[in-house]
Amino acid sequence: MKKFIYLFTLIFIFGCSKDTETQSEEDIDKDKTYNWRLVTSWPKNYPGLGMAPERIADLVEEMSDGQMKITVYGAGEQVPAFGVFDAVSSGAHQMGHSGGYFWKGKVPAAQFFTSVPFGLTADEINSWVNHGGGLELWREIYEPFNIYPIPAGNTGTQMFGWFNKEINSLEDIKGLKMRIPGIGGEVLKEAGGIPVTLPGGELYTALQTGVIDATEWVGPYNDLTFGFHQAAKYYYYPGWHEPGPMLELLINIDAWNSLPNHLQVIIETATKAVNQDMLDEYLAKNNQALTELVEVHGVELRKLPDDVIDEFEVISNRILEDLAKEDETIAKVYDSYLNFKNNVSAYHQISEDAFIEARNK
Ligand code: CA
Repeated sequence: MKKFIYLFTLIFIFGCSKDTETQSEEDIDKDKTYNWRLVTSWPKNYPGLGMAPERIADLVEEMSDGQMKITVYGAGEQVPAFGVFDAVSSGAHQMGHSGGYFWKGKVPAAQFFTSVPFGLTADEINSWVNHGGGLELWREIYEPFNIYPIPAGNTGTQMFGWFNKEINSLEDIKGLKMRIPGIGGEVLKEAGGIPVTLPGGELYTALQTGVIDATEWVGPYNDLTFGFHQAAKYYYYPGWHEPGPMLELLINIDAWNSLPNHLQVIIETATKAVNQDMLDEYLAKNNQALTELVEVHGVELRKLPDDVIDEFEVISNRILEDLAKEDETIAKVYDSYLNFKNNVSAYHQISEDAFIEARNK
């Protein structure tokens, strides 16, 4: 009974949608059990990122009373970290958990559904995706790849990262070899730096041996677990390159269409709950971890100089505008994104921003 109350409460809160075409009711056995595989881009059980798919799987199993079981695989167990999109697209695995900006070579517009520099914060991207037209665009651009995406977690605003060199001016960016993926990396390159892409598991050694001068990863909660404080001295903020990255649950559309409606609703609802829960967890744990990094490990916390941030913003906007000129799909997504950002920023100025300024002075 408790389970049903929980399920119905979630459905009531979040509403339910069924926007893909499903097989006719007679074709689907409502009592059939399902055993699905979910491949991820994260180490198995990695705090935050890796736990989101585990929680989705647990919730779906419980809410469906065992009718659906999802086995979660860490990066490399079934497919490599960056092989998740193809594995779900082909139907080799029914589900994946990852970040859209990893597929920028294949689906450049996907980056907007994770994070772009100086873009939307976590609350704002949730709002754009769920109530500002973002989700419809996202599903439209993944549909040719036979993938149905659902928002599935957010780390909140990230840190700029770990540095062995001080950044006092734009001059210090010149020649800086930094692990920073996506459009953030392109911005660094235009500012004279050397962006590098490496999976999370290789970052500590690369930093410690001097292969890279700096790395971004996530924020204090995740960065502490990788021990970056033992390999770098300065911890810079803010994470202008990833203001509120949204993660994604990817579902093969044929597999999705084979499910009875109630299981689709359970998956959507469980994932929506985890999307918010992951953000709450990061917010609760980031400052504890930051305090430990600074007070126990002696990390030097630094803010990027304003002129460096300003220059990064100018370059970011130019890169996004150039991308929109080259690609029709990006133009369409960027238009929706930018319009939403301008509107939400205007409101935030007189609501959250004004309040936080008043509270923190
Ligand atoms: Ca990052």
